[in-house]
Amino acid sequence: MRIIESIPEMQQASESWRCAGKQIALVPTMGYLHEGHLELMRAVRPRCDVLVISIFVNPTQFGPGEDFERYPRDLDRDIRLATETGVDIAFIPHVDEMYSEGYQTFVNVTGVTTPLCGRSRPAFFRGVTTVVTKLFHIVKPHRAIFGEKDFQQLVTIRRMAQDLNMDIQIIGHPIVREPDGLAMSSRNAYLTPEQRRKSTRLHRSLKEAEVLVRKGEKNGEAILKKVREVLAEGDDVRIDYVQLCDPTTLKEVDRISGPTLLAMAVHVGIARLIDNSVLIPSP
Ligand code: AMP
Repeated sequence: MRIIESIPEMQQASESWRCAGKQIALVPTMGYLHEGHLELMRAVRPRCDVLVISIFVNPTQFGPGEDFERYPRDLDRDIRLATETGVDIAFIPHVDEMYSEGYQTFVNVTGVTTPLCGRSRPAFFRGVTTVVTKLFHIVKPHRAIFGEKDFQQLVTIRRMAQDLNMDIQIIGHPIVREPDGLAMSSRNAYLTPEQRRKSTRLHRSLKEAEVLVRKGEKNGEAILKKVREVLAEGDDVRIDYVQLCDPTTLKEVDRISGPTLLAMAVHVGIARLIDNSVLIPSP
């Protein structure tokens, strides 16, 4: 695996692959890789000639007081795991080169970024869409893959790619979970063993909601009530939001009349965990 740090070097390499007719795929990450990231890489590996991952903890998507400084990092381990997974290029840019002095350009998607995580993290999506646009211009991929764990992020990036006529295929990948159901996340590293046990409530609450819907429950409030019960707020568990919405527009719904996104963000200790499931009503 080749490591590229410089932006012009990455752009030149991508240009030469494109001229040679090679298909480029990109997996953007913030590093501290886990099986969720590696599954994205494995899924896109057969669909490209050159597999590029980016590792960049993007400061513009963190708000004041959020975890930018303490976000977990282990570059040596990331490089080893990416190499073992068959990645060709790890693009690891420096913050000073990505956001050089005088930087003042941002990409802003409206609408779908307003609800859910947009409420409690107002700068987040603007940072994500800006950095992803920059990565697209630098790596020039034919396709890029994103996890459904960050469902609103995936919807936002699809919206941006469509609205800005980006000639890049956006691929979504299902959530990869630990054996006990917890969605894999670099932020799970923040959890104490006790909090780690409590974190399985997120997935359990989604499963309970799926059961209700399978049994024919259509009333949104009844489903949300059950979910909140399973999440059981306490000393170190606090719900940020639990919401039902249309999976494409992310507009809130109060009845399950078609596929419906059940999305949640829950603070467990210092970790803010997100999870979701698309509920499918029985016919
Ligand atoms: P991150 O490094 O957390 O920014 O994530 C990089 C990419 O990996 C994003 O597209 C995430 O949605 C995806 N990802 C992270 N965790 C998971 C997971 N448990 N399952 C599927 N995709 C994931």
